[in-house]
Amino acid sequence: MLQDRDRIFTNIYGMADRSLKGAQSRGQWDGTRDLIGLGRDKIVEIMKSSGLRGRGGAGFPTGLKWSFMPKESDGRPSYLVINADESEPGTCKDREIMRHDPHTLIEGALIASFAMNAHACYIYIRGEYIREKEALQNAIDEAYEAGLLGKDAAKSGWDFDLYLHHGAGAYICGEETALLESLEGKKGMPRMKPPFPAGAGLYGCPTTVNNVESIAVVPTILRRGAEWFAGFGRANNAGTKLFAISGHVNRPCVVEEAMSISFEELIETHCGGIRGGWDNLKAVIPGGSSVPMIPGRDMREAIMDFDYLKEQKSGLGTAAVIVMDNSTDVIKAIWRLSAFYKHESCGQCTPCREGTGWMMRVMDRLVKGDADVEEIDMLLDVTKQVEGHTICALGDAAAWPIQGLIRHFRDEIEDRIKHKRTGRVSAVAAE
Ligand code: SF4
Repeated sequence: MLQDRDRIFTNIYGMADRSLKGAQSRGQWDGTRDLIGLGRDKIVEIMKSSGLRGRGGAGFPTGLKWSFMPKESDGRPSYLVINADESEPGTCKDREIMRHDPHTLIEGALIASFAMNAHACYIYIRGEYIREKEALQNAIDEAYEAGLLGKDAAKSGWDFDLYLHHGAGAYICGEETALLESLEGKKGMPRMKPPFPAGAGLYGCPTTVNNVESIAVVPTILRRGAEWFAGFGRANNAGTKLFAISGHVNRPCVVEEAMSISFEELIETHCGGIRGGWDNLKAVIPGGSSVPMIPGRDMREAIMDFDYLKEQKSGLGTAAVIVMDNSTDVIKAIWRLSAFYKHESCGQCTPCREGTGWMMRVMDRLVKGDADVEEIDMLLDVTKQVEGHTICALGDAAAWPIQGLIRHFRDEIEDRIKHKRTGRVSAVAAE
């Protein structure tokens, strides 16, 4: 279990003072000027050796991403954009940072922007996060007043402005290029890549888009050192991580833990166990709605990190752990996600626009058992035609949950179809 002294987020539950004074008493904004004094190359170097991988879902190495930004300006400004559009079903970790520990993010934004030669940073916050926006804006105002932002920010010699932009509640704006379009005042539709944002991002200028948690951990990594951070988790899966556990556990929560913690320890230590005990565990979606589910019997020993969950044909994603016990109708649960992705598709590419609707309609019938058994393979085939054939990852996100369902619960789907036909309940359904 992670010791309190190793927690990066010391006010994640909002029990202490979240103002600048409170944040400073917990060690934030301590020696920021000296951290910036390390210089651009050194900061990027430390981030690389810390092993931090992006906390927004894809898990791309953060230091490496920063190093793609041009070292010298060709006349265009560079930007850091922080993705605070947290809209993935099950995911609710960044909101805790923004409403209870906002100065971790603001200090991180200054240092990261400096490291990428950016004098301006935009935080794009989810439309529904009204209170979070207020808390974050208050913290930004406080930081300006104290001279930590603006001209000669934190007396570092670096001029830096931080803007908070409120989205309008579209899931697709969490996709980095759709987010940039939306920030520019256009419809939030993903762009074709390349060019990648580091070459041409916001207003056609070099841009890095990072998740809230990825930026908020930066100051502590620099203060405590890359080795300290890399000391948690298995190789290639370093650091501490915010897990958001919801569903059928006794105490759902958001908690910071070491990467590579076992699922059992995570649930027993922080969530009071599975509702009704471990034998009652049916399935888990380990990383937010877009990753495939894993059956309960395979989860108890699971290691909660990028590589292990990928080997299980799932993923850590945003570390939003959705726990489902035996009372769950898993077919209906995945149908619900299909309906979500259909609703959120921007409609720009045909496989996603048509495929999400098609998949949802078949799922609709599978929930009722109103289908032929052959249609299960047809549905699987459609998911393969959507996956990897779209402009952005929403197509994959819509396909994967269904693939996970069919992979692990095909017998349950078949059973429901047969039951509808014959009225008989088999051993599987009776379980
Ligand atoms: Fe839009 Fe879907 Fe294509 Fe993404 S995959 S660009 S959401 S239509």
